[in-house]
Amino acid sequence: MQIAQNSVVAFHYTLTNDAGEVLDSSEGRQPLTYLHGAGNIIPGLEKGLEGRESGEKLNVTVSPEEGYGEVQPQLVQEVPRDAFQGVEAVEPGMQFQAQTQGGPLMVTVTKVEGDTVTVDGNHPLAGQKLNFDVEIAEVREASQEEVEHGHVHGEGGVEH
Ligand code: ZN
Repeated sequence: MQIAQNSVVAFHYTLTNDAGEVLDSSEGRQPLTYLHGAGNIIPGLEKGLEGRESGEKLNVTVSPEEGYGEVQPQLVQEVPRDAFQGVEAVEPGMQFQAQTQGGPLMVTVTKVEGDTVTVDGNHPLAGQKLNFDVEIAEVREASQEEVEHGHVHGEGGVEH
């Protein structure tokens, strides 16, 4: 069965950046399951899987525009150490949920210098070209309910 609008797709993947470093992989885990055409995964990967079939292996290259976006410099900000009330030690790599005008945003601490903390609200994969090695494990038709909810139910999906 070919992947099309409202297909439920399960696939294994290994994600590498342009330097060949492995950023993420489903190896040793359940395949990733998503509802095709519902925006469950990044657009570039969804586009690359369109029309493919169960058992196929392919490589999909995704540009930042079709991935996690370009790096937005205005999302990098310096905040006073006092903003982290109740946190014993603020260190690079820590993640916090920040309240912004556009709603909650996950930010990562990138630098701590004296009383100044630099946080970055960009997605960790923003600005990167992404290479996915994909093996399609299963393709099936979505149920009416799955289409209405916009996500997969059952194994690998939402249980409710
Ligand atoms: Zn649901």
